[in-house]
Amino acid sequence: MKPSIPQNDPNKEQRQDHLKRQQKAYLFDFDALSPLALLKDVPAVEQFSTKYIGERILATSELAANMLAADARTFLDPLDELQDYEDFFTLLPLPQVAKIYQTDRSFAEQRLSGANPMVLRLLDASDPRAQTLAPISNFHPLFDLQQELEQKNIYIADYTGSDEHYRAPSKIGGGSYEKGRKFLPKPRAFFAWRWTGIRDRGELVPIAIQLDPNPGSHLYTPFDLPVDWLFAKLCVQVADANHHEMSSHLGRTHLVMEPIAIATARQLAKNHPLGLLLKPHFRFMLVNNELARSYLIAPGGPVDDLLSGTLPETMEIAREACSTWSLDEFALPTELKNRGMDDTNQLPHYPYRDDGLLLWNAIETFVSGYLKYFYQTKEAIAQDVELQTWAKELASDKGGKVKGMPSKIDTVEQLIKIVTTIIFTCGPQHSAVNFPQYEYMSFAANMPLAAYRDIPKITASGNLEVITEKDILRLLPPYKRAADQLKTMFILAAYRYDRLGYYDKSFRELYQMSFNEVFGGTPIEQLVQQFQQNLNMAEQRIDANNQKRVIPYFSLKPSLVLNSISI
Ligand code: MN
Repeated sequence: MKPSIPQNDPNKEQRQDHLKRQQKAYLFDFDALSPLALLKDVPAVEQFSTKYIGERILATSELAANMLAADARTFLDPLDELQDYEDFFTLLPLPQVAKIYQTDRSFAEQRLSGANPMVLRLLDASDPRAQTLAPISNFHPLFDLQQELEQKNIYIADYTGSDEHYRAPSKIGGGSYEKGRKFLPKPRAFFAWRWTGIRDRGELVPIAIQLDPNPGSHLYTPFDLPVDWLFAKLCVQVADANHHEMSSHLGRTHLVMEPIAIATARQLAKNHPLGLLLKPHFRFMLVNNELARSYLIAPGGPVDDLLSGTLPETMEIAREACSTWSLDEFALPTELKNRGMDDTNQLPHYPYRDDGLLLWNAIETFVSGYLKYFYQTKEAIAQDVELQTWAKELASDKGGKVKGMPSKIDTVEQLIKIVTTIIFTCGPQHSAVNFPQYEYMSFAANMPLAAYRDIPKITASGNLEVITEKDILRLLPPYKRAADQLKTMFILAAYRYDRLGYYDKSFRELYQMSFNEVFGGTPIEQLVQQFQQNLNMAEQRIDANNQKRVIPYFSLKPSLVLNSISI
């Protein structure tokens, strides 16, 4: 097969016949999760390979024995003590976070390098939410709110549903389980960046949590009793877990990439250079998403059972996450800027950003070299009817409905930006939110997927309900749910099919053929090698960064990042 843009291809009819067949095999379904554009039926060629299935089964083989040996009782009573959450790990390694999850450092660091480093944002001095922090100066006279805000030291993680970026929670009343109700806390958590006095060194610390949005409600701070403060932090963790799974993970990687894979299969011929470039980054995603729909998010499945809301409520988070996602706003540099998290002088420590940009740059360099090779003139872009139809279908309301996608591509620079965002989302972004599910979410006491007790209320006498350690255990998942959370999180993070920038044999052969037989001595093969070299350099930088980090960040190490959303 000879990579070629359509206007240069002598086999025009063959191309069109192929595309006609593709357009019958890959149909959009707008009803399954309306209004999202998803795939109707998964064609046979998209199925998992025997290699994938065999290796994935092998990778999860320890789970059954672990659960058998664990005291994973089937009843839904609260555990007797927090320590007991460790007992679910008999053969599987106990996540490191289990030893530190109650500390403020671990709590704050998870906003920057945990499973969901996508929520924290800089709090603007003029933001009315900042006034929530006014009471702090009552017991902390050295805390000058105005000055802290003006120096851009205050950050917020807002799960109330009042944030324009995240409204779905306001509609979540909570699901139920065999013994009662489940709850979704809707907190606001505030953090401050504290400089240590040593140049460019500092630490993010939690300063306050508001659980109840009503004015005058108690503002939880580290000065509260430890049990109250831990309760408040756990409510934030529940809110963050629901945001993670439905917005950052399912919505903004798995589901937003689906229409792009569909349009690519429908509109770019087998030997279209862009199709060839994207193919390994969509490998197994469509079938994997189908598996998620028939199992994970099915009624009575893990999402229904384990997350806070009723299933329709919970799915609303994913729906909102998709419909507010756009190709341009979620290009990594833009996304970081939008949250005010891009300035390394202001916030010198943000592992997701620092490691992520290394990968973003490596991908951009590769994509840029690749596309500029095939599109050497503006005309080459304008006259590529397949590319233009691809763009049109992606942008169309009757097609992919992809926001931020122009319906016409004018320049190669425009295309480079789009393709870099697609590959970054399929590769690093998905891996960054998928694989930490084991480290941060399998140990249910760190990041419970639902609350089983409501937030403290004002009693008839006008005082705030007293929280005890028993209430913490009532808040956390009961036996069966904690065991099921471990199982699900383990399965979702157990297997890595491939590695970013390393394309498997069939794909490599394709390139070599294009080289030796057609483009002998062209730069494509070198570009792939250069890409791999840049990724290896990024790996070394990340290893060096981790030497300086109190808690190392592995999620964006290129050797642990996949090409595609294959799990
Ligand atoms: Mn995943």
